[in-house]
Amino acid sequence: MLTLPSFEWARPRTVEETLAALSDRPGETLVVAGGTDAVPNLKHRLHEPRLVVHIGGVRELQFVRDAEDGLHLGALVTLAELARHPVVRRDFPSLARAAGLVAGPQLRNMGTLGGNLCLDTRCTYYNQTYFWRSALGYCLKKDGAAAWRRTPRTSRRC
Ligand SMILES: Cc1cc2nc3c(=O)[nH]c(=O)nc-3n(C[C@H](O)[C@H](O)[C@H](O)COP(=O)(O)OP(=O)(O)OC[C@H]3O[C@@H](n4cnc5c(N)ncnc54)[C@H](O)[C@@H]3O)c2cc1C
Repeated sequence: MLTLPSFEWARPRTVEETLAALSDRPGETLVVAGGTDAVPNLKHRLHEPRLVVHIGGVRELQFVRDAEDGLHLGALVTLAELARHPVVRRDFPSLARAAGLVAGPQLRNMGTLGGNLCLDTRCTYYNQTYFWRSALGYCLKKDGAAAWRRTPRTSRRC
C-alpha cells in the first residue's frame, strides 16, 4: 500500500487565507485542489512538501461568470461543471467537449480547471512509485542525475 508522507496541512476558506498560508513556507508548499494528480504524486514521493494547502474549500474560486467582457472561470471550477455548463457549451463548445472527455466521471467531478492547467509532468519514467524509480536510478526531474526518455523501441538516458 502506498502511504502519504508526513506534512502539515492548511485548509483556507478565502483567497486571503490562501495567500497567507502560501507565504508561510515558500518553496516547501504544495497546493492541492481536487487532488487527482497531487495526491498520487505525494504517495509516489514526487512531492515532499512540508506544508500542503488544500484550496478546495475556497468558494471565491468556484465560479463561472458570463460577463460583458467575456467568460470568467474560477480555478476551482471542476471539469464536470465545465462540461455541462450551458454558457460554456453554447459559447465555447470545444472547451466543454474537451473537459467532458477527460478521464472518467469521478475524476471530472474532483479535477479542477486550475489543477488541469497547473498539472505536473506526466511521464512513464516520472509518474511511478519511489521503488520503481529507484530501480532505474531515478530521473533528473526527481532524485536523479540524468533524464530518461522513451524511444519507439527502447528506453535510454537523455
Ligand atoms: C486517470 C487520469 C486521466 C486523465 N486524463 C486526462 C485527459 O485526458 N486530458 C487532460 O487534459 N487531463 C487528464 N488528466 C489530468 C486531470 O485533468 C487532472 O488530474 C485534474 O484536472 C487536476 O485537477 P485537480 O484539481 O485534481 O489538481 P490537483 O491534483 O489538486 O493539482 C494538480 C497540480 O496543480 C497544482 N494546482 C492545482 N490547483 C492550482 C491552483 N489553483 N493554482 C496553482 N496550482 C494549482 C497542484 O499544486 C498540483 O501540482 C487525467 C488524470 C488522471 C488521473
